[in-house]
Amino acid sequence: MSLTRRTVIYVIGICLSLLALEIWHEFDTYSEEIEQAETETANLAGSLIQHAEDTFNIADGTLAIVVQQLGDEGITASALRHSQAIMDASLENARHFRGFFLYGPDGKFLTGSHHSGKPVPDVSARPYFTMHRDDPNLGAVIGRPFRGQATGDWLIPLSRRITGPDGSFLGIVLAAIDATYFASFYQRFDVGRRGSISLLLTDGTLLSRSPFNPDDVGIDLSSAALFTDAMPMQGAYHLVSSIDDTARIAGFARSPEFPLVTVAGVARDDALASWWRDAAIRLCVMIAFVMAVALLGLRLADQLRRRHKAEAQLSARETEFRLITESSSDLISHIDNDGRRVYVSPAAPRVLGFEPEELLGRSVFEIAHPDDVESLKAAADRMRRGEAGGETLAYRALHKDGHEIWLETALTVVPGKDGAPPGVISVTRDISERKALELQLIAMARVDGLTGLANRRAFDAALDVEWRRAQREGAPLSVLLIDVDRFKNFNDHYGHLGGDECLIKIAAAVEGGIERPGDVAARYGGEELVVLLPQTDTRGAMVMANKLCGLVEGLGLAHEHNPPWKVATISIGAASVVPNETFPDRTPQWLLGRADAALYAAKAAGRNRAMSAPEPPGRKLSLVRS
Ligand code: GH3
Ligand code: MG
Ligand code: MG
Repeated sequence: MSLTRRTVIYVIGICLSLLALEIWHEFDTYSEEIEQAETETANLAGSLIQHAEDTFNIADGTLAIVVQQLGDEGITASALRHSQAIMDASLENARHFRGFFLYGPDGKFLTGSHHSGKPVPDVSARPYFTMHRDDPNLGAVIGRPFRGQATGDWLIPLSRRITGPDGSFLGIVLAAIDATYFASFYQRFDVGRRGSISLLLTDGTLLSRSPFNPDDVGIDLSSAALFTDAMPMQGAYHLVSSIDDTARIAGFARSPEFPLVTVAGVARDDALASWWRDAAIRLCVMIAFVMAVALLGLRLADQLRRRHKAEAQLSARETEFRLITESSSDLISHIDNDGRRVYVSPAAPRVLGFEPEELLGRSVFEIAHPDDVESLKAAADRMRRGEAGGETLAYRALHKDGHEIWLETALTVVPGKDGAPPGVISVTRDISERKALELQLIAMARVDGLTGLANRRAFDAALDVEWRRAQREGAPLSVLLIDVDRFKNFNDHYGHLGGDECLIKIAAAVEGGIERPGDVAARYGGEELVVLLPQTDTRGAMVMANKLCGLVEGLGLAHEHNPPWKVATISIGAASVVPNETFPDRTPQWLLGRADAALYAAKAAGRNRAMSAPEPPGRKLSLVRS
């Protein structure tokens, strides 16, 4: 799997983990919120059941005294009076007691104490009456709530049986407790806008509820889970209210003393409202964070992918370059700023005889011919100074086996790696063969094909050089123009090939006759030769010319039609000059013209002789030649 793909998966993994962690955390806080609501409502229900017990206990206290009184004394006028007084006192102390009522064994109202209206005259048919009449051991009984005769308010009856000393049924005493009392007490507790607190009988009858609605009192909720399922004395459960269809988390507590249960419920939505708000904010922040991480990660992956691609391209290109470099017959080197080879291609043995390892780290100047080192160093300096981005040099070098070779090197400046000074890539090939051919061609261009003497072009160049030297030094310079005598006749008689052979021999004699290294003998054209004599004045030139005439005659080359000698002879015209800038019309050509004129004179004078051109006017020639 590619690095990029791994990175993407890694980034996605991190993002998903972060999200999962956040969601898990939210579930955790959600459960905590629920748990907290459960605990709080259960605690509240616990407190409220205590309150309900206390309320009923206070009422029951009064009932117990009355029961005691009448049970002991029987239904007598004085006992009734006493009871009346007790009931009045109790009613005085607690506003939520609506009344205390005493009924005889027949269910008829005997006496009572109440705030308003008329008591029910006969309760013989009421369940709480018949229950007590039929069962002497019931103790205090909380009955179903009923509407008071006078006000129509909901009242909760708490009753006790009055039993005579002989166990006979003497009637009941009943306390009526205002159902709204509980509701208004419960209102003091904050259970949220949609919360509720209820007081119920354990058979599911609703006694009181906040928020209070008179129509709810007395309804039967026995089908609720609290009554159908096995539940502890105190705890919490989740319900959907059948009264207002609200989902609640409800804490409940049962009374160990009375058949009472309190239920304190908060709307589930209210309990979780702050959680919802906080969780939404946290989730938004987390999503933003995860997106930032994802974006950053994907960007990183993209960059990695690009770099990967670039590296692959680079490596492919490197392979390509290496292939080219290593298969090239030219020697390719990378040379650092100090002139040392830091890379040498495998062609090194082919070109220089050295293995690449033998050249690595060594200076390129080491193998150069001593005469060419300077020019190479000058080129290196030019490139170091940035004057040349590259150039091609031809120079001599020493092959490993010692022989001299000509090399041609193309140099290209390349930037140094990592801030190092620039270096050079050199591509070198052996041009020895080409060089030899060139030299041969150069030589051929200067030599006359028939006689082997310098040709006219070489002579002209030599004359030009010597002319300027003589001018600088104020030295004399002479030329001898040589023409074979009656050569047309020779050709006619001996044939052209014979003529050529004769010409070759005469040329060799002339070449052999010249003495100084600076003297140049050349074929000037046809059967005319020319000799350049630097540092030679007229006299010296004439000595030389006469010597040459004698040499050629001395060859004894038969020439039937050259009377009176009958051998090949030459005539020579000599001309001398001290080149001088004050005579700008005296040119090499002028000098040759004068020699030609002297030659013409020599021919006219009978041939086989030398004649010199008259001295040109001007500075007297000084003698150099002895
Ligand atoms: P002169 O003594 O007056 O010089 O008589 P000449 O016959 O030599 O006359 P000229 O110098 O004018 O003649 C040149 C002749 O030389 C013409 C040509 O037949 C001959 N010639 C010129 N170049 C060559 C050459 O390369 N080979 C041969 N065989 N003959 C040549
Ligand atoms: Mg001629
Ligand atoms: Mg001639």
